[in-house]
Amino acid sequence: MNFVSIKNPKLNASFQQAVFTGLASDGSLFIPETLPHLAEAFLQKLSQQTLNSIADTVAKQFIHTIPEQALSAIVARALNFTIPLVQLEEHLFLLELFHGPTLAFKDVGARFLAEVLAHFLEQEGKRLTLIVATSGDTGSAVAHGFYQIPNVDVYVLYPSGRVSPLQEQQMATLGKNIHAIEIQGNFDACQALVKQALNDTELAQPLNLTTANSINLGRLIPQISYYGWAIAQWQRLQRNTKPIVVVPSGNFGNLTAAVYAKRMGIPIQQFIAATNANAVVPEFFASGKFTPRNSVATVSNAMDVGDPSNFPRLETVYQNDLALMRQEIKAVAVSDIETLSQIKATYQAQHYLLDPHTAVGVVAAKQDLKNSKNNFDYIIAATAHPAKFSEVIANAIGVAPEIPERLQQLINKPKQSVLLPADYTQLKNYLLAANHAKP
Ligand SMILES: *Cc1c(COP(=O)(O)O)cnc(C)c1O
Repeated sequence: MNFVSIKNPKLNASFQQAVFTGLASDGSLFIPETLPHLAEAFLQKLSQQTLNSIADTVAKQFIHTIPEQALSAIVARALNFTIPLVQLEEHLFLLELFHGPTLAFKDVGARFLAEVLAHFLEQEGKRLTLIVATSGDTGSAVAHGFYQIPNVDVYVLYPSGRVSPLQEQQMATLGKNIHAIEIQGNFDACQALVKQALNDTELAQPLNLTTANSINLGRLIPQISYYGWAIAQWQRLQRNTKPIVVVPSGNFGNLTAAVYAKRMGIPIQQFIAATNANAVVPEFFASGKFTPRNSVATVSNAMDVGDPSNFPRLETVYQNDLALMRQEIKAVAVSDIETLSQIKATYQAQHYLLDPHTAVGVVAAKQDLKNSKNNFDYIIAATAHPAKFSEVIANAIGVAPEIPERLQQLINKPKQSVLLPADYTQLKNYLLAANHAKP
């Protein structure tokens, strides 16, 4: 299958070109030229499938340029953790996407992309340098996903003093092919430096420089499969209804994957897009006006996005027709006060700790359950583990969550980051020297 630019369907690329370049040459996103439908025989027996077999089947619909056996091995290495569906209370279920190495759903996409790039690089005998700007979650998922991946060097730029201590530990203690750069500036400064580096051929060419942000198709495709796995587990519970899927959203990649899953035949009733106070999309649904702007800080900070980069991809599924989109998706904004009080209420009633992002989804689901008299069931994407956001949790319930063993191990490791000012010339010299020093 080929992938085409949203703006210009004649501008097409192979899967390999799409994952290496990220964006199409006209600056817009790649989408699959068609959305394949899963075979009826497969869908009939969905409940007998495993996460791996579903991910394998989904990947093979889109990717025809990696031999089947190699692709199966890539899927197995990338998805080497569980994604259980657990019941929270009557009508509400959580899809726990946070059992990967950095405790957030972004591990799925980052690990798959890392394995795919490693496969192509080995074939071509090439090296690649990835550069990413992060406000926390993306950097840690990418750093862990690419750790010790052959032929790849990763530079993660993060704003000094503005990521949580745990997030910094996750990015800056790995070493080997993962290089953390602490920038004396904010996230926007980091992002501007990355952009400048990617556009500077004197740097981009010798380093074979690219990025791995959330618009990369290599991150989107594997995310489709866990919605199939959610429904497989759902059917095993002998439930015959179609659930509503609720996705806490920032850049809207995760919701796009969920909508793709439905288009491919996975039985899902509807969707709820739940945002925090960065409510550009809920406002668009209400008023028809799309007004991107600077983000505001909230307790669910991985969703603090003022201009959601995957949204154009989602719109193309509905032929850019808002009325069609509204038939299948509701968009709800949730305040920090509602989020914190939901964390507390769920902790008291169910003894379950929600992370702030998942709590946004739970608030949206509970509101919908109350407003619609249909008694639908809801599956909420639980996007992170609460221990990643211990300050917010402590604020909500009065005590900090327990840190899981695999995070505990990081806390005592020495930090290995390089401190640089937000100055492009210094960054460039540093990257060129580091590249020169390679064997
Ligand atoms: C990135 C992130 C989100 C938002 O996902 P999008 O695909 O950008 O909409 C939600 N929750 C957590 C914990 C995240 O890290």
